[in-house]
Amino acid sequence: MRDYAVSTAVLDFPSSKFLFGVAFQEMNHRSLLLIVSFSPLVALCAVVQSGRSDGDYFELEKIPVPATNDAGSQATFRIVGGKADRASAPLAVLNDGLIPRGEDDPSRNFFFAQGSEGGLILADLGKSIEVASVATYSWHYGSRAAQRFALYGSNLEKPELPKWPAVPGGGWSLIEKVDTSKAGAGQHGVLMSGKDQKSLGKYRHLLFAVKPNLSKGHFNETFFSEIDIIDAKGPKVIRIEKPNLIVKKFPSKSGKFTYTLNSIEAPDLADWAEKELIPVMDKWYPKIIEMLPVPGVKPSTEITFTMRPAKNLPKNLSGVPAYASGASVVFNADFMRKELAGEAIGAGIHEVVHVVQFGSRDKEGQMTRGKPLPVWVTEGAADYIRWFLFEPEKKGARITRGNFGRASHDSSYRITAHFFDWVIKNYDKDLMRHINQSIHEGYQEEIWKEWTGKTLKELGAEWKEANRKALGL
Ligand SMILES: [Zn+2]
Repeated sequence: MRDYAVSTAVLDFPSSKFLFGVAFQEMNHRSLLLIVSFSPLVALCAVVQSGRSDGDYFELEKIPVPATNDAGSQATFRIVGGKADRASAPLAVLNDGLIPRGEDDPSRNFFFAQGSEGGLILADLGKSIEVASVATYSWHYGSRAAQRFALYGSNLEKPELPKWPAVPGGGWSLIEKVDTSKAGAGQHGVLMSGKDQKSLGKYRHLLFAVKPNLSKGHFNETFFSEIDIIDAKGPKVIRIEKPNLIVKKFPSKSGKFTYTLNSIEAPDLADWAEKELIPVMDKWYPKIIEMLPVPGVKPSTEITFTMRPAKNLPKNLSGVPAYASGASVVFNADFMRKELAGEAIGAGIHEVVHVVQFGSRDKEGQMTRGKPLPVWVTEGAADYIRWFLFEPEKKGARITRGNFGRASHDSSYRITAHFFDWVIKNYDKDLMRHINQSIHEGYQEEIWKEWTGKTLKELGAEWKEANRKALGL
């Protein structure tokens, strides 16, 4: 330690030279804040509730978001001990002013080889500067989030480098030791700054002696996202812009639901999604829930909407407009952009029906994925609600002379939606509710007789015949 003592009293953030913060992955855990403790080697460590979310932007307690024009951005970073992991991004990600795009983004994080003993990162500042503060940022959904390192400084032009894992010797002074292993998963940030607004000292080089962290889990090499080195006499610090609209939570009008919008990968759609998409989803999600009640099954109170470019979608899904998994809806951003005034919102309605179908929770609070059901039935139901209830004026599910030949009740999507509309008008006004119930209580084809008094085959033939007549064929 240099010219200050580490307080052993309760942490006083403003005057402490050493601040630590963790972004809680689940917003509702934010209020848990930090529990701070001391040990001789570790200035601070935090115990936090860990969780998972689709992303955040280093909005850390007491720690500013990463800088883009700090002295670190001009420094040369080199590995001088240990080896980078084969999957790690190049060291340059540490001072490029960019942060990862998600909670597991190896392309934007530097990490030492898994299973190794960590290593040494040297930052050559190019000249001796008054270092006001050093901040380190890391992000991972699991055990690779925590940071554990010692920071050394040297004002020599060519300080002797230790042979890793040996401790740096003459010419180096220990600035601080950091261990956030107890903090759990999420985004971690550590800010080291001088006491009483003084600098950390005058340095030409900084050396990060990085150890695997002590989090529970198999992989403990920290995903380092960014390192900021602030020159006390440097220009005004510019920080990454906090993209307000990128990941945002919206309470529903009723106060019963929360919608998360993740537009990290398609920021241009954030504004549209907030103003156009979410309000419609909020209007319709409760309606759909009301339409499709199942005893003992609770629809999810949260839905996440993610905008993602086609190139980042799983290969088998890169051509779809959108898809749902549990209570998460992913939109194909390329499709959305083209269809903002067309199909975009209707596609959202279709997916929200899937959220009600498969993203509900049972009495124990477990996600209920439902029982096996023919896909044409659940897709037809989603399209029925979309085309016949949400946007009937668009007449998007018609039987025409063009499609009559191949139209069968189980053709799925729009054609099945048309069939369902016909069944609802003629035989079972509760068909949507019945179908949703069968997702949770079991489905077999015979059930159609119970619902309508007719077999599915009979219904299909009758519907086809009705269409033939209507088309004058
Ligand atoms: Zn679907």
